[in-house]
Amino acid sequence: MTDENTCARDGCTFHVELVMIGETPMPTVYCGDSCADFEWFRRAIENAAPSRDVAAALQHLNALERLLNERVQPFEVGPLLESLYGR
Ligand SMILES: [Zn+2]
Repeated sequence: MTDENTCARDGCTFHVELVMIGETPMPTVYCGDSCADFEWFRRAIENAAPSRDVAAALQHLNALERLLNERVQPFEVGPLLESLYGR
């Protein structure tokens, strides 16, 4: 089961794939790992209590959003969490 869908973050069209969430195959709702990570990151920040760390994270988030909106191909930007926390 594969189909075209519209990315829940930026509205671009992408090819749906199935990813395993636990034991259940779920269709992807974002065009790539970067959009999925962005939304995860945004929710985490929104649910955090206000602090200086959260304010700094919000600035990162705005910079990431610009980066994602400027790209031409969905996979130009890879998984964000690796680039944020991998170093
Ligand atoms: Zn997207």
